[in-house]
Amino acid sequence: MQTVSEVKIYKNFIDNEWVDSESHETIKSINPAQKNEVVGYLQKSTKQDLEKAVQSAHKAKKSWRKLGQAARGQLLFKAANLIEENLDDIAETMTREMGKTLPEAKGETARGVAILRYYAGEGMRKNGDVIPSSDQDALMFTKRVPLGVVGIITPWNFPVAIPIWKIAPALVYGNTVVFKPATEAAVTAAKVVECFVKAGIPEGVLNFITGSGSVIGQALIDHPLLNGISFTGSETVGEQVAASAAARGIKYQLEMGGKNPVIVTKDADLDAAVEAVISGSFRSTGQKCTATSRVIVETEVYDQFKEKLIQATENITVGDGLKEGIWMGPCASESQFNTVKRYIEQGKQEGASLIYGGEQLTGGDYDNGFYIIPTIFDEVTPDMVIAQEEIFGPVICLMKAANLDEAIEIANYTKYGLSASIFTSNIGSLLEFIDEIDAGLVRINAESAGVELQAPFGGMKASSTGSREQGEAAKEFYTSIKTIFIKG
Ligand code: NAP
Repeated sequence: MQTVSEVKIYKNFIDNEWVDSESHETIKSINPAQKNEVVGYLQKSTKQDLEKAVQSAHKAKKSWRKLGQAARGQLLFKAANLIEENLDDIAETMTREMGKTLPEAKGETARGVAILRYYAGEGMRKNGDVIPSSDQDALMFTKRVPLGVVGIITPWNFPVAIPIWKIAPALVYGNTVVFKPATEAAVTAAKVVECFVKAGIPEGVLNFITGSGSVIGQALIDHPLLNGISFTGSETVGEQVAASAAARGIKYQLEMGGKNPVIVTKDADLDAAVEAVISGSFRSTGQKCTATSRVIVETEVYDQFKEKLIQATENITVGDGLKEGIWMGPCASESQFNTVKRYIEQGKQEGASLIYGGEQLTGGDYDNGFYIIPTIFDEVTPDMVIAQEEIFGPVICLMKAANLDEAIEIANYTKYGLSASIFTSNIGSLLEFIDEIDAGLVRINAESAGVELQAPFGGMKASSTGSREQGEAAKEFYTSIKTIFIKG
């Protein structure tokens, strides 16, 4: 039995010090696989704490910019090495805090290290261009400069990779950061920040603050000293970020939801399609923004595909992600669990046919966690709520299409446009799909979830706003360009 004194209290990191909140209150982070286990206590920060964090980042702006890109990159290499050394501990914390299975958590942490090294390498790459001038006595060139203080707000579903893919480019291009992680995965985030601190990030450059999104998250996005905001999370909060940033004319970047389709044509390799749909829909318990949510199958192969999909779903082992042999963990939190159950009820009520799962798992250890059986709805029509709204759980909506044109029409019939995939062996079909699908990430004979760190990441329509994340695209967001003209 766990005692309170055994559980660590994590502090904020502000102005180069690990500090308690002025509130002297903490928030519990619990294990969704064992809800009586507290993973850690976090600071319940106030607006005053937030003010200190922003002031600290503001004060450090000039010295961090002047340090230079190469030296900043070297610090990121050190942080990457430290995260790698602590990979097992960070991954285990992630599994205990948000339920992702241990192999997935290790994979995500290793990805975080690779992202960090990519941006550390940016320290040694060019940050401007020489532009020919029509005046032969002049030198004209561009120089990329940091925005200043950047606010970073992240969700709980990728508690290592998403913070790193924002913090690393922000820092290497010379910005100082106030980082507010999702409360439900903030212990994992604290462990990542500890590695940056041990790497020697100078005073004030990286500030870490935990607490309620509606209190300190809102105060962060509204803060007048902020020069940019990068946000990943729900559309509702994203809209608030956009309104607040636009009113002050500062740069912002939003990565939000998805309702990602997979189209399976009559000539597709059905076994490969089933494997990709299972992985895309149920890995991470369906809690990926790029998770497969709608599967649109051509009529000729619909029944055959459905049968294979059910057989594959039967093999999924659900349980505590720390245990060997478990393929799918619990929902990340009680509120997420209740949301998924609500959508399952909604699907039943609006006439979709529940052909697999649709219930929580009960009995024994299952009673201690937030477990849902992988769920498949058949006969889903495009107007149904479950075909339109992001469920963010292990639920597949199977839909029938008479031909490719109809399949693409159904696929595009949502407000989202993050990721989309097609399984086909017909080159004409895949070319048509590339042209016609409304998605930022277009995947051919590959699952909807999955992206390489050096490629631009982001979506269309309500899924994203602002410049893309990752790779070269991050430079666009985290810097401004100065055009310099020197007359000789
Ligand atoms: P969320 O509720 O919007 O929370 C995201 C972050 O915003 C958290 O840190 C949250 O803090 C904070 N927040 C909440 N209210 C705020 C406010 N009024 N002002 C400022 N910040 C506020 O989203 P979530 O439930 O954590 O994440 C799931 C969503 O993220 C899904 O919609 C998913 O699709 C999306 N997502 C998108 C991508 C992508 O790249 N497109 C990737 C991953 C996830 P608290 O935790 O303290 O509430």
